[in-house]
Amino acid sequence: MNSIKIIIAGPRGRMGSEAVKLVTNINHFELMAVVDHKHEGMMLSDLDGFHSIHNVPIYTDFEKCLQDVEADVLIDLTTPEVGMHHAKTALAYNVRPVVGTTGFTMADLEELKEICDEKELGCIIAPNFAIGAVLMMKFSQMAAKYFNDVEIIEMHHDQKLDAPSGTAVKTAEMITAVRESKIQGHPNEKEVLQGARGAKYEGMHIHSVRLPGLVAHQQVLFGADGQTLTIRHDSFHRGSFMSGVKVAVETVMKQNIFVYGLENILE
Ligand code: NAP
Repeated sequence: MNSIKIIIAGPRGRMGSEAVKLVTNINHFELMAVVDHKHEGMMLSDLDGFHSIHNVPIYTDFEKCLQDVEADVLIDLTTPEVGMHHAKTALAYNVRPVVGTTGFTMADLEELKEICDEKELGCIIAPNFAIGAVLMMKFSQMAAKYFNDVEIIEMHHDQKLDAPSGTAVKTAEMITAVRESKIQGHPNEKEVLQGARGAKYEGMHIHSVRLPGLVAHQQVLFGADGQTLTIRHDSFHRGSFMSGVKVAVETVMKQNIFVYGLENILE
C-alpha cells in the first residue's frame, strides 16, 4: 500500500499533538510537514515533546507549505477561522482536508461542499472523532423517533472556544431530521436569569458546561410520560479521538465527496 502523505495543522495543540503521535506511529501514514503560526523555519524536532520526530518542517504559511511539500491529506485541528481557511486552501491545491476543528457555520459547510463537488475531491469534517460519541448521536436519533422532548447537556474543558460544541449541534441536527416538531417546556415559561434554559434549537434546549478537569462529555436526555432515557458519552483523554482520525484519513483517500460527520463513513 502506498503511504498517505499528511500535513497536520495545529501540531502543538491538545488534539494536534495526539494526531502527530498517531500519524508517526502508523506505517502507511507519512508526516510531511506541520503548519503552526509560530516557529517559522524550525523543524518539528526542535520543539519540546517532538524531539524524536525527524525531517518534519514547520510552516507558518500554509500556501507555501502546499507549494513546497507533496501531500495527500491535511489534518486540521486549530480554530474555526483558521480551519476554514486551511480547508479551502488545501482543496485549491487538491489536498483532501480531514477537519476536526469545530465551530464551522452552515455557510462554511455549504461552501466547502460546493468546492468538493466542483473539484470532485474528498473532504471530511468531523465535529467528533470518538466512535462512542458517533454511536451516542446515532442512538439519540433512534430515540428521537419515539421521544420528542429532549434536552442536550454538553460538558467540556474550560479552554474550549465555541459553544455549544460541534457535537451538540450535530446531535440536534440529527434529532431534528426525525423528531416531530415541538416547542418544549411550558408556553409561559420565563427565564428569571437570562440563559437559564440554554440555547434553543428547533424547540430543543442545549446547555453548555465549561469546567477544568473535563475533556468532552455529552448527555442527551429524553422525557415522556412517567419515564426518561439518558444517553451519555465521555471522552476522558484525547487519545479517544484518534481511531476516528485514522478512519477518516483512510476514507477521504477513497471518496470524492464532501462528508460532514464521522457517522456517514462508519459501516
Ligand atoms: P488547542 O489545544 O487550543 O489547539 C489548537 C492549536 O492550534 C494550538 O496549538 C494553536 O496554537 C494552534 N493554532 C492557532 N492558530 C493557528 C494557525 N493559524 N496555524 C496553525 N496552528 C494554529 O485546541 P484543541 O483542544 O487541540 O482543539 C483543536 C480543535 O479541535 C478545536 O476546534 C476543538 O473544538 C476541536 N476538537 C475536535 C474534536 C473532534 O473529535 N473532532 C475533539 C476535541 C477537540 P497557539 O496555542 O500557539 O495559539
